[in-house]
Amino acid sequence: MALIVQKYGGTSVGTPARIQRVADRVARERRAGHELVVVVSAMADTTDELLALAERISAEPRRRHPRELDMLLTAGERIAMALLAMAIRDRDVEAISLTGSQAAIITDNVHTGARIEEVRATRVREELKRGRVVIVAGFQGVSREREVTTLGRGGSDTTAVALAAALGAERCDIFTDVDGVYTADPRRVPSARRIPLIDFQEMVELATSGAQVLHPRAVEIGARFHVPIRVLSSFRDDDGGGTLITRKEHGMEHLALTGLASESGHVRLVLRGLPVGMGATAEVLTRLADAGVSVDIVEQADRADGRRQLQITVREDALAEAKQICERLIADLEGERLEVQPGLARIALVGSGMHDRPGVYAQIFRALIAAGIEVHALSASAISIAVLVDAEREQEALRVLHHAFGLGEEQP
Ligand code: ASP
Ligand code: MG
Repeated sequence: MALIVQKYGGTSVGTPARIQRVADRVARERRAGHELVVVVSAMADTTDELLALAERISAEPRRRHPRELDMLLTAGERIAMALLAMAIRDRDVEAISLTGSQAAIITDNVHTGARIEEVRATRVREELKRGRVVIVAGFQGVSREREVTTLGRGGSDTTAVALAAALGAERCDIFTDVDGVYTADPRRVPSARRIPLIDFQEMVELATSGAQVLHPRAVEIGARFHVPIRVLSSFRDDDGGGTLITRKEHGMEHLALTGLASESGHVRLVLRGLPVGMGATAEVLTRLADAGVSVDIVEQADRADGRRQLQITVREDALAEAKQICERLIADLEGERLEVQPGLARIALVGSGMHDRPGVYAQIFRALIAAGIEVHALSASAISIAVLVDAEREQEALRVLHHAFGLGEEQP
């Protein structure tokens, strides 16, 4: 008898009829003999509505009342879990719902963005032993100071995988409104294909680069504790195969690339005429880090006149702070000027098969140049390459790259 953790997203429990459907599926799996822990998100737009409600009461609730905001937001998942428990019990299957705090999901104390430190899940184990389906509220926990916390938007995936790891579950099935992870966002790239199997690290890259399908931290936990994760559609009766995220064996990758993800809202800052030497670069990066600004791409070039040019990219929401810091630094170091280029999109090309394969850069540049798309910055890791292009060309760049690497074609 396998223990399986299932997670249902907000659209999957978005209406009473959909909750009934989920209850059917859960009852079926339970009758098949599996032990089940079911993690739920809040129904449809509930979390957005609760946030909007808070904003009508008080400006900037996240900054000024983080504790109370967490109290409020956790209510969304409570609604969904209680309704689902009722629906399952109506099918003569024993079920009980638990809040994150009852399930003893212990987090740090960072309200609205807490991280899980430990999953005790004592009560969950007890209820499983009684033969019950245990429904756990996603996206929430409790700190050691006994404060209720939330894990950040989309955090229910993380709850599910963390529970699966703690309970030693066979796998974690994430039911959502799409039937798997695709080679690119199918709304933007019509020829995108479902990826049947993907490596944890590749999935972490895709998720942190803008693929909406999974919370990146959930995948990181899966990788660390070797919990296979399946992404499946809750709207299909056959599960369609979905996508299995697991450890890829060597020799399995045929293609250089596995998939593409993208995200707009990036900015390039160019600091011109800095003194040569590592000192200036280190100083910029230190000041940005001290201010909590995270830098994506860093590139430097020495000019013929003995001065250095430093280029960094940041997210748009950090622009005001980054700009102020860079301007002050240029003044302090008697540099020349700062140039700011907003409105960029970052496209990530992800694939563990890319490593050590010659010609990938050439292929990227040839494809983009042929389409007249300029690359403003570039970075690479062992399994990904990211290029920054004008945000208006984002969709086109995705299509061009998807085609150039044959991602839309049938795989052998
Ligand atoms: N309900 C929360 C949100 O909308 C958590 C989740 O759905 O995973 O962000
Ligand atoms: Mg939600």
